[in-house]
Amino acid sequence: MGLLVVGSVAFDSVKTPFGEVDNVLGGSATFFSTAASYFTNVSLVAVVGEDFPEEHVAFLKSRNIDTTGLDRSTGKTFRWRGEYTYELNEAHTLDTQLNVFESFKPKLPESYRDHEVVFLANIDPDLQRDVLKQVNNPKFVACDTMNFWIEGKRDSLIETLKLVDILIINDGEARELSGEPNLVKAASKIRSLGPKTLIIKRGEYGALLFTESNVFSAPGYPLETVFDPTGAGDSFAGGFMGYLTNTMNLDDANIRKAIIFGSVMASFNVEDFSLNRLKTLNYQEIENRFREFGRLTHFDDI
Ligand code: AMP
Repeated sequence: MGLLVVGSVAFDSVKTPFGEVDNVLGGSATFFSTAASYFTNVSLVAVVGEDFPEEHVAFLKSRNIDTTGLDRSTGKTFRWRGEYTYELNEAHTLDTQLNVFESFKPKLPESYRDHEVVFLANIDPDLQRDVLKQVNNPKFVACDTMNFWIEGKRDSLIETLKLVDILIINDGEARELSGEPNLVKAASKIRSLGPKTLIIKRGEYGALLFTESNVFSAPGYPLETVFDPTGAGDSFAGGFMGYLTNTMNLDDANIRKAIIFGSVMASFNVEDFSLNRLKTLNYQEIENRFREFGRLTHFDDI
């Protein structure tokens, strides 16, 4: 049936040591949907303003993403401005303008209500729950968030986490959410808040998976060209959830494969600004890099 996502669709302005872009297409749901669209059908819930160009909507549709749930409201589209130093793992937010998201009251189209898999991308946790409660009987629900909401809407975020099966956040966010510097201890505190499966992304160092009985460590892909880390987390989540939705199998072994597909999508995304790399990607490249991930960590004779 496909994957339902709610999150931001945005204009990003980003500065990295390698260049600068202004008001380019961004947003957690945009990166997520595009990455996931290589694996499954995606239905998008978000809002944009009058200033959002039709060409961006046309791009989403060209990826077969259902935009029936993409509202156009009076006002301006969400804007985010961020900067990265040579320490590319951490974004420094300079400005966040919620704009049309401030008054967004999503009403899910009838065709969206029976989705079995839901991803609550990084956005106001009130809105995440608003959307989730309109889905009839979701089989599994995953979620992302960031320091902006951990600091600004902590109580609401804790309510959302009670409804979530899989949480995907980065190491800094895991430490801030749990108040615990050690990631293993942080993981067990966070898992006690609701999500039984926790993925902690560690930028170029890869990702850690924590479940009831297992810890799994995936490497980051050693890339020569890292241009812009914006959207890496969302593309990771898109590849991960897209693969899980395509296979509908939550065994540990399949979740591990999904993490590698997530890492593959994130590694492509950082090779260029905005969604430029995801726009030119094809499935053969994804499969090739998935195999390279296998060779990267295989240490028996090959
Ligand atoms: P990441 O994958 O973590 O690099 O996410 C980057 C994207 O998140 C950017 O395209 C931003 O537009 C979006 N973003 C930044 N801050 C927020 C926020 N507070 N709520 C929702 N989306 C955000």
